[in-house]
Amino acid sequence: TVTPHYCIGCGAQIQTVDKTAAGYIPASALKKNLAAEDVYCQRCFRLRHYNEISDVRLSDDDFLRLLTQLSEADALIVNVIDIFDFNGSLIPGLHRFVGDNPVLLVGNKVDVLPKSVKRGKVKQWLQQQAHAAGLRPVDVLLTSAKNGYQLDELLQAIDHYRAGRDVYVVGVTNVGKSTLINRIIKQATGTQNLITTSRFPGTTLDKIEIPLADGQQLIDTPGIIHHQQMAHYLGQRDLKLVTPKKPIKPRTYQLDSGQTLFLGGVGRFDYEQGPHSGFTLYFDNNLYIHRTKLSNATDFYSRQLGKLLQPPRPKEVATLPALKRIQFTPEEKSDVVFAGLGWITVPAGATVSGWAPKGVAVTLRTALI
Ligand code: GDP
Repeated sequence: TVTPHYCIGCGAQIQTVDKTAAGYIPASALKKNLAAEDVYCQRCFRLRHYNEISDVRLSDDDFLRLLTQLSEADALIVNVIDIFDFNGSLIPGLHRFVGDNPVLLVGNKVDVLPKSVKRGKVKQWLQQQAHAAGLRPVDVLLTSAKNGYQLDELLQAIDHYRAGRDVYVVGVTNVGKSTLINRIIKQATGTQNLITTSRFPGTTLDKIEIPLADGQQLIDTPGIIHHQQMAHYLGQRDLKLVTPKKPIKPRTYQLDSGQTLFLGGVGRFDYEQGPHSGFTLYFDNNLYIHRTKLSNATDFYSRQLGKLLQPPRPKEVATLPALKRIQFTPEEKSDVVFAGLGWITVPAGATVSGWAPKGVAVTLRTALI
């Protein structure tokens, strides 16, 4: 048997098999490292030499242990979420683990919101959603890790609410947590010796500790996979096609009942009942929208999926779950939200159905605009 090695940066057990899991190092690099006696996993190596955080994934059990540590810590908890995918951003049960620790909610990716959406309203909406999920954040901030929007405000808020304590940054994968932390590192800390030697080898669950000015730590935790995220049902290239990168330009369609809109091949919207009305779509500007008759939509989808209706590309058709339908008749003007994709604003009283791949949430919320 081989003696296990532990990363002297984060304490994770070194392994050469799974790139996306904690403690990974390419086998060739491991040999060299062993000769030098210090073993760093690839993630810590990158942080040390390039000041760059990369993401790893934890099993559900390890994540539970990590959350348990949160409840025992005396710290500020910064929960990063993707404002385009609130449901897919939620850490299941987080509110039960935070204990008395304050939570700062950070809604990331604000750069892709259309200009017409009021930031204040989004904040208010996030606050409501958080409450519905049992979280009582001390504050809500909207950021863009991509362009640095509100980064100074975030750093100030962190400093204010942590009141001398450690800071844990938590979030599911894909919300932009690594991008955000990389920005924080650049802006807020020196660049030398970012990782401290692990105090508890093999028990630190791959947390990364970034020293703060007063000797406390900013702790990056691995993202958990939230299986409701669209990201897990699409290949990397398809995902790029549906993920908004620039401010969304709303597209309005005048529809009669009995009409259907396809969102590429990854979503479907049926207008079932109501007068001739306008529906405004907020999706990636390049996402192909196809209008057709509701009566032959299902047949059309089965013939055109991966052809006219892309993404998915033909190769990915087999792995995309079948679309599942959910019906709404909102009493006020509302948004039908396709998790991770965008949303459609529908008038009061209209009976509509939203369809998304099974496992991806379609929900209704009060209209943001
Ligand atoms: P993590 O898994 O939470 O660490 O997320 P990453 O930092 O790896 O980011 C996931 C994806 O979201 C990447 O494609 C990023 O480029 C993108 N991303 C991260 N932050 C932002 C942001 O503020 N705006 C936009 N538009 N994209 C972002």
